[in-house]
Amino acid sequence: MGKILETSGSCPYCGRRISGYDPRIRKYGSPLIKCTACGQTYLDRRFTEIEAEGARAEDLTAGTGVKAMLLGIAAIAVCGGFTLYTVKVRDYYSLKMVMCIILGAVVFIAGLVDTIQVKSGARSKKLDRYREESRQRLADPDYAQALAELGYDVPYEFRKGGDQ
Ligand SMILES: [Zn+2]
Repeated sequence: MGKILETSGSCPYCGRRISGYDPRIRKYGSPLIKCTACGQTYLDRRFTEIEAEGARAEDLTAGTGVKAMLLGIAAIAVCGGFTLYTVKVRDYYSLKMVMCIILGAVVFIAGLVDTIQVKSGARSKKLDRYREESRQRLADPDYAQALAELGYDVPYEFRKGGDQ
């Protein structure tokens, strides 16, 4: 296999655009993607190969969810307080403030769901599933070799002939 090129939104070989590409979005899966147009394989770093890279920090701590909950509560308190004041004293309410309260509630719920997932162990079960899928991919020596050549920290057991 020749040198595998990395994508930044389109196929580095034929230029075909990847629909909905957003470099900030991270997923678990194989970072080696076969282009549907030209059939060449390119590297897509949005995908985390968990057994070679480890789980992402935000998936191992409840901190992110708790922060979101606090942010949501703060938004509800500030915008809710302001709305209460304008309704009582000035007899009007700002639509922006109502939107802010709704947004605060959404952020709070998202944070709550995230925290529950981490605390209940559902998150780690999901990670276990990703790890199992990752191990199955790495069991293919060509795949493991390609990732190792790209600088991935492929576990020793998956390396061809155990070479370093
Ligand atoms: Zn292509």
